[in-house]
Amino acid sequence: MYVSRFTSVVNAMVLTPLQELAQSLVNCERCKLAKLGRSQVVFGVGNPQASIMFVGEAPGFNEDQKGEPFVGAAGKLLNDLLASAGLSRDQIYIANVIKCRPPNNRDPEQDEVETCKPFLMQQIQLIKPKLVCTLGNWATQTLLERKVGITKVKAQAFYMKDFVLFPLLHPAAALHQGNLLPTLKEDFKKLKEFLDRHSTPAEPTSSAPTPATPVLNIESPQPAQMDLFG
Ligand code: URA
Repeated sequence: MYVSRFTSVVNAMVLTPLQELAQSLVNCERCKLAKLGRSQVVFGVGNPQASIMFVGEAPGFNEDQKGEPFVGAAGKLLNDLLASAGLSRDQIYIANVIKCRPPNNRDPEQDEVETCKPFLMQQIQLIKPKLVCTLGNWATQTLLERKVGITKVKAQAFYMKDFVLFPLLHPAAALHQGNLLPTLKEDFKKLKEFLDRHSTPAEPTSSAPTPATPVLNIESPQPAQMDLFG
């Protein structure tokens, strides 16, 4: 009894590498956003073993207050879109390129992206998702390392070295421009088709409180697809 209680206390004190990374950023002052009104660093949330990761741009007001990505209006729309693709938030991991709220939700600046990108890359390395869905231009261009418009590349699979990238419009874009909503919904249908083509259903477990997560089987990367960029 003593041993097991001792062991559980020790285990509770041992951080996973992802938790260690989050911890190392709690008081981050590496870029000017630390002094431009952010309340806290918004590291990311979700299943640390997720095979699907979503990456947005930067926290907004609500995310800065709550410390979680996509909890405002864009987050609510994202939840509906995820459900339409058969996904729930507890099956995936969500993070942003920039971990601190830019003042007045302005676009991130180049030095801020350069400072914060290595931490996104470390998150990806630790979580090891098979599929990374980027939301909007910023996240897409940051991970593709190309200045290419989201409308040109959205809803297609790009085989990167360690994962498949699937760019999508940012949900906030559809909130600002209602005519983009049908396109966004259509693109999540394409995401679902991609997932269905590459998934085997998870073994049902009698005790699981949430639907079991399907297993993603994405073939080995096909670098030839990068030729799309010429
Ligand atoms: N928009 C983003 O890009 N990320 C968030 O977390 C919220 C809104």
